[in-house]
Amino acid sequence: MPAPRVPFDQLYARFNAPIADFDCGQLCAPNNPSGKPFCCDICQAVPAAYRQEWEYLQGNTNLWHRWRPEECGQPAFDPDAEIDGLPENMLLLACQGPRHCQRDFRALSCRQFPFFPFVSEDYRFIGLACYWEYEKVCWVIQHLEAVSDTYRQQFVAAFDELFDRWPDELNSYADLSLELCEVFQTRRRRVPILHRNGGFYLLSPASQRLRRAALP
Ligand code: SF4
Ligand code: SF4
Repeated sequence: MPAPRVPFDQLYARFNAPIADFDCGQLCAPNNPSGKPFCCDICQAVPAAYRQEWEYLQGNTNLWHRWRPEECGQPAFDPDAEIDGLPENMLLLACQGPRHCQRDFRALSCRQFPFFPFVSEDYRFIGLACYWEYEKVCWVIQHLEAVSDTYRQQFVAAFDELFDRWPDELNSYADLSLELCEVFQTRRRRVPILHRNGGFYLLSPASQRLRRAALP
């Protein structure tokens, strides 16, 4: 059975708040040799989009094209070939770059970066966790206090809606959340979580127990 349709135009309209009340790209871009914000540099962070989302984008903007590895000096490959770690319902995209960004047509992956929904072992969407590989380069991950309440609420509402329509996505994010826990367990660190209830918590990567904490 085909997956239920997700109205990406409406989802985008409801998840449009900036992450902070200033342009964080200006703070990280000077540290990137390309001069672009790290999350808008397709050679640093390749945006992935749902196939349904790509259909919507293709029909409404010329901002995006299928990502080509040779754009980043890597060997070419068949864009429809299976890519390690990329779920079947997603593909890799590239935009025209930050100078040509069209805010209304940013992909969900742009809007959510640097966060993903943390889903516990018992499949509860607890809050926002960070893509840990970008910890050293992303100013927002280093300054979680700057994340606005509106952004957090819109993030939670958007993924509640997505999980409601596509419950299988909970599994994917539960796997990713587990991977995050394994990495943090190795590093002997607790996982920072911007909880859906508005609080900040540190999560034990072994037990997934949460402890309320002050924002760093
Ligand atoms: S979210 Fe992080 S990587 Fe993206 S522009 Fe802001 S500081 Fe830079
Ligand atoms: S669409 Fe905009 S926000 Fe998304 S990666 Fe491109 S420049 Fe960045």
